[in-house]
Amino acid sequence: MSATRPNLAAAYDPESFRRLGHQWVDQLADHLARTLRREGPVLPWASPATHVERFPANFPEEPSGVLPDLLTRVITDSHHLHHPHYVGHQVSAPLPLAALCDFASSLLNNGMAVYEMGPVSTAMEHNVLRWMAGVLGLPEGAGGVLTSGGSAGNLTALLAARQAKAGFDAWNGGPTAGPPLTVLVPETTHYCVARSTKVMGWGAEGITPVPVDAHYRLRPEALEESLAAARRAGRRPIAVVASAGSTATGAFDPLEAVADFCAKHDLWFHVDGAHGASAALSPRYRHQVKGIERADSVVWDAHKMMMMPALITAVLFRDGNRSFEAFAQEASYLFTGQDTRRWSDVALRTLECTKEMMALKLYVCLSALGTKLFADAVTESFDLARRFAERLQSSGDFELAVAPDCNIVCFRHTPKGLPASELDALQVRLRESLVTSGDFYLVQTTLGGRVWLRTTLINPLTTDEDLEALLEALRRAA
Ligand SMILES: *Cc1c(COP(=O)(O)O)cnc(C)c1O
Repeated sequence: MSATRPNLAAAYDPESFRRLGHQWVDQLADHLARTLRREGPVLPWASPATHVERFPANFPEEPSGVLPDLLTRVITDSHHLHHPHYVGHQVSAPLPLAALCDFASSLLNNGMAVYEMGPVSTAMEHNVLRWMAGVLGLPEGAGGVLTSGGSAGNLTALLAARQAKAGFDAWNGGPTAGPPLTVLVPETTHYCVARSTKVMGWGAEGITPVPVDAHYRLRPEALEESLAAARRAGRRPIAVVASAGSTATGAFDPLEAVADFCAKHDLWFHVDGAHGASAALSPRYRHQVKGIERADSVVWDAHKMMMMPALITAVLFRDGNRSFEAFAQEASYLFTGQDTRRWSDVALRTLECTKEMMALKLYVCLSALGTKLFADAVTESFDLARRFAERLQSSGDFELAVAPDCNIVCFRHTPKGLPASELDALQVRLRESLVTSGDFYLVQTTLGGRVWLRTTLINPLTTDEDLEALLEALRRAA
């Protein structure tokens, strides 16, 4: 190849790869060092149109000298999630070791739809999932799959729930082969749950909302009425989806009460723990997810509180065999023999055919860094959120939306003398000011018809002093 196709030979040349790899790691390490020192903006804000112009598709026909400048510009213009002033969405500041694993995964590219294409990553996935099931307290025999994000994870779990509880074969017969189905969900459920039921063809009434209390937690005493209302409307309820860490406020639904209700009515009990299942890692906070061990299925994102880069989501089933029903080619009761239930051919049970070596980063980081790092990260971020909430409450010019269950804190600035009618607009302006200046990155949400600033303390490098600086920055901007 090298004689006749020099460009190809150069592109695959191991020595160039070695040199370039060292340069890139150096550049990324320098970036990490600067960011950890709080240098530079969190988000170097620019409009979508500006970025479209900055990164045009002017691709040359022959190799060019764009490196290393191109990487420098990518680093500079990107959002800097390791900056301790990043307190926005539920996206992690990844462990550098995990990033190296993704790098290795990309080169090895063991796609793992079938065992032979990813023998190591398939085994790691199997064992990482068993470990996670153990952390949650699921029984022996629990198992599942890794998939690309909580949204795909919830769809996967609900497909299995449908096959188990619909009473007809919706996989082959379609959603109209039986009565219309629905799942009971707290009003605060993540939008992907409604998307999943719509993807399954259940329409808008595929979710039946259950009211939440003043703390934004599902009200278990309201479940009976929601169930009855769904039935009156001609729907067959098959499951309850509880949130372990709702998205807006991080509220944990009362899982034990939901488990009791599901047992009583023979409903599938699914826990959307995309954000909060990680609480089970923390001896101090695992009580928040008490009852999760009774779930039929759980979704748990490791790319949120477990410091993994996107994406790695566990879909766990208390009976690991249920995972085969999500994408069953036939109804589960028709399965015969072992052929269609090979655990080692992961694509039998995932939306993806080819996927990354997803388990690699988590397996390697748990092996090399130890489990305590992960437990401590959860405990410390929840502690930090509680101290921040106390600070807000004693401040006199900030209002806390609700006492935090986890590491999500919603609040608003209420400077003296400003009429209540102007407070919503103020929060919007404050957020915009801090975000576009690059000083902090935080988001906003609407609760009870009012606008609140929303922070997720997901970066383990964020300190009390950073949060004090955030309040000062908000006061200045106001
Ligand atoms: C983040 C989140 C999701 C979506 O997960 P992705 O990994 O972003 O697809 C779903 N549910 C809850 C409760 C979440 O916090």
